[in-house]
Amino acid sequence: MGGTSVGSVERIGAIAERIKDQVNGGFNKIAVVVSAMSGETNRLVDLVRQINPQASAKNYDMAVSAGEQVSAALMAAALERVGIKSRGFLAYQLGLKTDSLHSKARIHSIDTAKISDAWEEGLIPVIAGFQGVTDEMEITTLGRGGSDTSAVALAVALGAGFCEINTDVDGVFTADPRYVEGAHLAELMDFEVALEMASLGSKVLHCRCVELGAKYNMPIVVRNTFTKNDHRRTKIMSFSEEQKLEAPVVSGITLDRNIARVAVSGFGYGSGIISGMFERIAKLGINVDIIVHNRSNDDSPMRIGFTIAKIDTDQSVDCLKSWAKEMELNDLAIEVEDKLAKVSAVGLGMQSHSGVASRTFSVLAEAGIEIHMISTSEIKISMVVEESYADKAAQILHDTFVVPKSN
Ligand code: ASP
Ligand code: MG
Repeated sequence: MGGTSVGSVERIGAIAERIKDQVNGGFNKIAVVVSAMSGETNRLVDLVRQINPQASAKNYDMAVSAGEQVSAALMAAALERVGIKSRGFLAYQLGLKTDSLHSKARIHSIDTAKISDAWEEGLIPVIAGFQGVTDEMEITTLGRGGSDTSAVALAVALGAGFCEINTDVDGVFTADPRYVEGAHLAELMDFEVALEMASLGSKVLHCRCVELGAKYNMPIVVRNTFTKNDHRRTKIMSFSEEQKLEAPVVSGITLDRNIARVAVSGFGYGSGIISGMFERIAKLGINVDIIVHNRSNDDSPMRIGFTIAKIDTDQSVDCLKSWAKEMELNDLAIEVEDKLAKVSAVGLGMQSHSGVASRTFSVLAEAGIEIHMISTSEIKISMVVEESYADKAAQILHDTFVVPKSN
């Protein structure tokens, strides 16, 4: 259950009714994973920042994980109110173990014994998402939006038939309908495409949740919590070879405004320099996305550009500066540009159709949109453009490639 699904007392009550119907319909082995009530995690993050912007990651996690504790208890209480026996669980009570990368921890293992016990007793377990514990029993969190990941991990550990993500949209769309006209619901999606879309900034799913689903072949159904059972939903699963062949060339367009480009220049060619630089950044758990590097044949200084999430900019720049100092790279210059956005087209059919890249470049060029960086994989093409052109670029790509919905 995403944050908006449990956003108010009424909504929690409405979900309890729905779960009651499912239980009465014979589904008694349900495990419910909840997020914090909408806005709650932001409020907690804000409180921590106000108290101490440099609060340690352990204290940060202890504070921001609290929203899920409240939701789990409220949901369990709401179930009791409608006559369904229920119990809330926190990560430490379940043994939901993670590594110790606070605020972006990864799940290592889940002990499902407590959940089986709850089912044995006829209880519906309600689990606080987003949180975990280290071996030392320190509270961790999985990164913003992480309760989806908790849910899929739990479904895998329990050997569930599928994991249903209840959210405030009907499913995964071909593009964000708020910005792209004609964007529509994708009913069926292969893990590979969903994974690209999630990592490229489609806000519906947390990347790690899809990664886990793909790794363990756990189908993920994304649906709107409050629409009736009218089949408007997206099912994410492993496509068969045949389904892959029939997949559209482009299934979706994503837009990520949350990027910054860091350009590092003024260093000469030397073994270990580039690896040293990225090693430092990796140690902070920061994801580097597109990297553009060109080594010229002469001895001119090198230049490397890469993109990261905007939020990681200060930390990356600080770490590069201290690394440069240690390495005595006195001419090293670091520039940051953050008025950029990344627009991408994703589709399995790209594997078997040529010309997607050239078509993309030409339609954007016709519209006068300059491309700053490009990166491709077998099933996606991403371009960094000026932020002010981002919506237009997404619309053009959607109009060009995404098959309009027939009904
Ligand atoms: N409550 C957490 C957040 O807002 C986790 C989640 O909603 O999935 O990021
Ligand atoms: Mg959320």
